[in-house]
Amino acid sequence: MKINEFTITQAHRGLVDKEFSCEELTRACFERIIESDETINAFVDLNEDAAYESAREIDEKIKQGEKIGFLEGIPFALKDNILVEGLRATAGSKMLSDYVAPFSATVAARLKDLGSVLVGKTNMDEFAMGSSGETSYFGATKNPIDLTKVTGGSSSGSAAAIANNDVIYALGSDTGGSVRQPASFCGVVGFKPSYGRISRHGLMAMASSFDQIGTITKSVRDAALVFESIAGKDDFDATCLDKKAEVMPTLDQEIKGLKIGVPKEFFIEGMDKEVAAAISAEIKKLSELGAEIIEISLPKTKYALAVYYILMTAEVSSNMARYDGVRYGFRAKSDNLSEMYLKSRGMGFGDEVRRRIMLGTYVLSSGYYDAYYKKAQQARRLIKQDFDNAFEKVDCLVTPTTPTKAFSLGEKFDDPMKMYLADIFTVSASVAGLPAICLPCGNDKKSPVGLQLLSKNFNEAVVLQVANNLEEKNRAQELR
Ligand code: GLN
Repeated sequence: MKINEFTITQAHRGLVDKEFSCEELTRACFERIIESDETINAFVDLNEDAAYESAREIDEKIKQGEKIGFLEGIPFALKDNILVEGLRATAGSKMLSDYVAPFSATVAARLKDLGSVLVGKTNMDEFAMGSSGETSYFGATKNPIDLTKVTGGSSSGSAAAIANNDVIYALGSDTGGSVRQPASFCGVVGFKPSYGRISRHGLMAMASSFDQIGTITKSVRDAALVFESIAGKDDFDATCLDKKAEVMPTLDQEIKGLKIGVPKEFFIEGMDKEVAAAISAEIKKLSELGAEIIEISLPKTKYALAVYYILMTAEVSSNMARYDGVRYGFRAKSDNLSEMYLKSRGMGFGDEVRRRIMLGTYVLSSGYYDAYYKKAQQARRLIKQDFDNAFEKVDCLVTPTTPTKAFSLGEKFDDPMKMYLADIFTVSASVAGLPAICLPCGNDKKSPVGLQLLSKNFNEAVVLQVANNLEEKNRAQELR
């Protein structure tokens, strides 16, 4: 096994035991990227000089016999909608292709303080809008497992970077599934904490009542470690909760006696047979681990996709208004002001972003507000109630992450409705603000299927505990 293939826990051990230096670990990551990223296109920018500099500082610390923290010296990547002072932040858009961040996002600052080594910024669907990684101005990201397939999106580069062992861990953002869905397609672990857990200061807003930063990792334990390190109160984000995020103490506890619900609405007709079979096999394992499996009904979740695509586009249309050619980013040449606005937005944004601005403006317009926006807000409440009722009966829920495996590049690109359907199982957790994790089913590394676990708000601990138990069981089976 090469050192860039390590998990955080393995890499940390290796650094502490002086099996390799932080500089060697960092170099192994860059070498991997240089050999493959021309094809995969996971990165928009690399941060080589600064990364080596901090790696050497940490090596010096280790040499002096100082203790290092868990994330110290660990190479990672950030999705390109998360700001890092002095580095370009493009959000995958022409609009921001020359934009350099004037300050760092709270998550980036926290990871820097912890001594983690930033390797680069990852490619993504434009402004996080997409389910395939194909809407980026910098070209599509390819799935490292099968180069003819999409990675999923919108955190396409972060998921590909983990699947390809370019870095040890990565962060993405998840508004309707953008961490979980690409994790599913790339066979890695994608974790979206509850709305309000992690500061979004310095994350470019897409749909503010849904946006949450999440982790993409090679193991559930790594997700838990990074989550604990970046969660928690931030004076720059009023939606960020002042509550301790503690998930490590219960991570290895048995799940015997836990109640796990299987929502029947998530096992729909027309679902890919291999996906259905893989999920059923995992549910059986959960039962073997001593969990009680209970069938649950979430009747209102059938509206989740429609609710999401109404409310999200409404919020997108408002959040995208700031890109006007004056204050940020791309400005088109023109003789008068209104033409400058029109041209800058028309030329700076890609098709998907413009489609959503139009849809969002429509659902918010005075004649249609009650019929669409208001109705969707009401339905959002009912969906949340469905989950509240379910969590009176069960500790967590298990579902597929996506109805199909990774699809082919180009397959859905010209059919937005088909593309939106790829999010059908991930959006409900976003609509209700719940914590959710995607982990690979079984040990099929060539053609992965993702399993999703959800729980009630702020109960990340149980989601991670169940996921960790299942992952351990699969690992034990692989070793046999
Ligand atoms: N695929 C979803 C969309 O296109 C989710 C995006 C996201 O979570 N950022 O809106």
